[in-house]
Amino acid sequence: MKFRKAGLAAASVLTLALTVSACGDGGKKDSGSGGTDGGGKDSIKIGIKYDQPGIGQKTPDGFAGFDVDVATFVAKELGYDEKNIEFVETPSADREQALSRGDVEFIAASYSINDEREKLVDFAGPYLLAHQDLLVAADSDIAKGTDLNGKNLCSVTGSTSAQNVKKTIAPKANLKELSTYSECIEGLASGSIDALTTDDSILAGYASQPANKGKFKLAGLKLSNENYGIGVKEGNTELKDKINKALEKMVADGAWDEAVKKNFGPANYKNEPAPKIGNIVK
Ligand code: GLU
Repeated sequence: MKFRKAGLAAASVLTLALTVSACGDGGKKDSGSGGTDGGGKDSIKIGIKYDQPGIGQKTPDGFAGFDVDVATFVAKELGYDEKNIEFVETPSADREQALSRGDVEFIAASYSINDEREKLVDFAGPYLLAHQDLLVAADSDIAKGTDLNGKNLCSVTGSTSAQNVKKTIAPKANLKELSTYSECIEGLASGSIDALTTDDSILAGYASQPANKGKFKLAGLKLSNENYGIGVKEGNTELKDKINKALEKMVADGAWDEAVKKNFGPANYKNEPAPKIGNIVK
């Protein structure tokens, strides 16, 4: 695995060197002395989603969601004060680049671990096991993956859900790939989209929003296993190991359960138990 990754990493380093003249480093130098190796621990930039209720959401009061709580716990374990965390939006299609450019130190953004991505970044975790599902209108008769063929389906560019639809679930669906799931929700509400597909953890959050109550339903299909990991820059094993320790602690001391209850409870999302670090369910 490491050899395969080394070639690609070298290629991407070269590309980066050619295209990026001055790049960030996850915020460490912004404030002079922070970072993961001791020092001032002044600030840290963390990639999250901004528009996924229950997972990662920017609200008028700040940031909320399971990923936000996981990221905050981890950052504290790494030595950062909560007030010195800077959350940065990392859309699905930009996560690998955000890490290799050094825009953020790590990413907790419904980020599934898979072989393609592991060629470009390293993952701590997993810290949640979700499954791909469908969100449809409350009166829809779409009930299984193959019902999607010929239907207008929406997902997000750069997501595993979009890939799975094209490869296996419904290659004949008319798949529209947008940049956020919120845009898909608008299409579903207006009727221009027949179904939205992504992780059940995300869909449950949207379905439970006050504005959406009663309008949509989840099909309840487990179309894939989505093992959420925390992405770090390729080769940053030291940070990955520290994050894994923090995640283990989060589960052991009950903070993981609390975060689940707080963030998934309102959506009535039935989560899987906490995964063991390194145990990726294929
Ligand atoms: N977990 C899936 C992925 O990483 C879908 C959710 C997302 O787009 O963030 O692609």
